Amino acid sequence: MSNTSVVTETKLDEINIVANTDVQTFVDLRSDTVTHPTRAMREAMLTCAVGDDVMGDDPTVNELECATAELLNKEAALFVPSGTMSNLIAVMVHCQTRGSEVILGDQSHISLYEQGGISTIGGVHPRTVKNAEDGTLPLEEIERLIRTENVHFPVTRLVCLENTHNACGGRVLSMEYVEKVAALCRKHNLALHMDGARIWNAAQVLKLPVAKLVEAVDTVSVCLSKGLGAPVGSLLVGPKAFIAAARRIRKVLGGGMRQAGVLAACGLVALRDMRERVTEDHIRARRIADALAVHKSVKLNPDTVDSNIVFFELDPAHTTLTASSLVSKLNEGHKVLIMALGPMRCRIVTHYMIDDAKVDTAIRALLETLDAHAK
Ligand SMILES: *Cc1c(COP(=O)(O)O)cnc(C)c1O
Repeated sequence: MSNTSVVTETKLDEINIVANTDVQTFVDLRSDTVTHPTRAMREAMLTCAVGDDVMGDDPTVNELECATAELLNKEAALFVPSGTMSNLIAVMVHCQTRGSEVILGDQSHISLYEQGGISTIGGVHPRTVKNAEDGTLPLEEIERLIRTENVHFPVTRLVCLENTHNACGGRVLSMEYVEKVAALCRKHNLALHMDGARIWNAAQVLKLPVAKLVEAVDTVSVCLSKGLGAPVGSLLVGPKAFIAAARRIRKVLGGGMRQAGVLAACGLVALRDMRERVTEDHIRARRIADALAVHKSVKLNPDTVDSNIVFFELDPAHTTLTASSLVSKLNEGHKVLIMALGPMRCRIVTHYMIDDAKVDTAIRALLETLDAHAK
């Protein structure tokens, strides 16, 4: 027995140190999805019980679903391969019939980055509200867009929020704001879904239990593979009957997985070990933002950096760089990876594989490159 665990240790070291030399070489700030599963996750994969989850037989998946529902204080949860599928299923179950309408932010992940699946696959019409800079949707705008009964109109059935808000720069929605939207939804008999891919980050920023943050919403989608470092997986969380309907739709979308316990095992470790530490990512993101904000080539207000995402704009009056030329110079010259998300707009995301030394490297590389191309 002790012999076996020695062999296991060696293999895990090989995985972490030999197979992933790029981790030592690169400072990868493109996204918090680039994280590799931790050693504890890999060990959990090795030892977890599994079964056919489509038949409901995988004990580890069942445990993850129960643990997540409990953590969010909702009745039930469904393990799905991705946040995109989780949001799509949520919209499809809430809206039921084709010709329904969902109100959501024009900067929301569902609106921008999910291929319009709610329309092409779900048959649901999106009605977008312009997101405020802080990730909220103005309440009066939501209310103005709710359809009245009229043969020309689709039927409004759902509002979607996002917390933290990715494209608005990781902004955190307050509990008070979410409660106000929920009250509006109740008044008009609409459902409320929260894209909480990074709800863990929001909970740490607000210093509140995650369950509090989602108390007022009907359903939530959470990701294990962003800041929490699991390799795969999201959970859709909500009432029992909703999750039963969601399970059927997951199957038709091809998301029924078999011995998914090996993935769920990582998810359980992610929930246990990785939630509290995201505060470190927030501190490091703020350090990067503070360092960049004082450079004249950069437009950035560090006070808008709530969590682990930093967006900045290059000022063409003060630099010859574009977002894409900055990205390639950082990559080729410094092995620092960031993402261009617009002609002059870049994004940096911190995560558990970025330590203080990597932040120092990134700041040095950024300032050096900006200095070299300032005008
Ligand atoms: C990443 C992300 C998703 C989608 O998750 P995938 O697992 O990449 O499909 C959904 N919503 C938000 C806010 C995200 O950041």
